[in-house]
Amino acid sequence: MPYFLGHQATWQQLLSLYQKDHLPHGLLITGPQGVGKSLVGLCLAYALLCQKPQKNGEACGTCGSCQLMEKEEHPDFYRLAPEGTLIKIDAVREIQKNLNFSPNMGKNRVILIQESESFHRSAANALLKNLEEAPQNTYFILLSSAAGRVLPTLRSRCHHFRLGPLSEENLKEILSKQGFQSKNLAFYQGSASLALKLKEVEDQIPDLIHLQNKQQLLSETVHLLKNLNSREEVKNFLLALLLSLHHRLTQNLNLEVEERFSLLSFAQRILEIKDSLRLNTNAKIQITPLMMHFEDQ
Ligand SMILES: [Zn+2]
Repeated sequence: MPYFLGHQATWQQLLSLYQKDHLPHGLLITGPQGVGKSLVGLCLAYALLCQKPQKNGEACGTCGSCQLMEKEEHPDFYRLAPEGTLIKIDAVREIQKNLNFSPNMGKNRVILIQESESFHRSAANALLKNLEEAPQNTYFILLSSAAGRVLPTLRSRCHHFRLGPLSEENLKEILSKQGFQSKNLAFYQGSASLALKLKEVEDQIPDLIHLQNKQQLLSETVHLLKNLNSREEVKNFLLALLLSLHHRLTQNLNLEVEERFSLLSFAQRILEIKDSLRLNTNAKIQITPLMMHFEDQ
């Protein structure tokens, strides 16, 4: 059975609406990346499909339906996600074929939609009618970490539930289950996925941080940046680099003043570069001149 940490108020609200038979048929669950939207959506799907739900409304985890969910073979559970960058009309049509029939197993049917900001307009239009006049006992759970980019036509037909960042306590628990400890939880902005991604990048960085002089540090950084492709990768690399610099500065209190100053000014520059990365621009094109400028100083 999937589980999530945090978000208890929203979760209780969802269960209570369902138990009172007031759960909207179109639900939009939004929140920052890596806080557990998919897990909340999936747990809700389990609960809606479970044949022997617990008193509090949560799924039992053992009935035939829960077992099929576990194997990802439940005939009344559908997933819709972008192919490439878009959710396409064919995928919507494929699911619609099933909506005129009764659910196969229990009373409900659930369609979980990842990255709902990625609907192609025609795919969204195709879905509108289903959202407006959802077949009895059919629930659409739309997920998005970019609520502002979900088409207004879709948004207006869904009841909106917002998840906030994870608390540091919850984040700590999630990360420790992955064998990962961090003293810098605040750095991860309440996002488990960001923490795990940064950890991955950070593991490649310690050698870099031990380079003694600034020129070496810069040229190695530029070299590593050249191998990164997406804006996301560049951003994560810069964040991980900052985190490593932070470790080096806080854990080595006997650093020479000069080195401390050099690392701090480097961190400052990284922060400026990170802030200057704008959406939909080629990160590398932006970074290279900024780095070169810094090298000249
Ligand atoms: Zn069950």
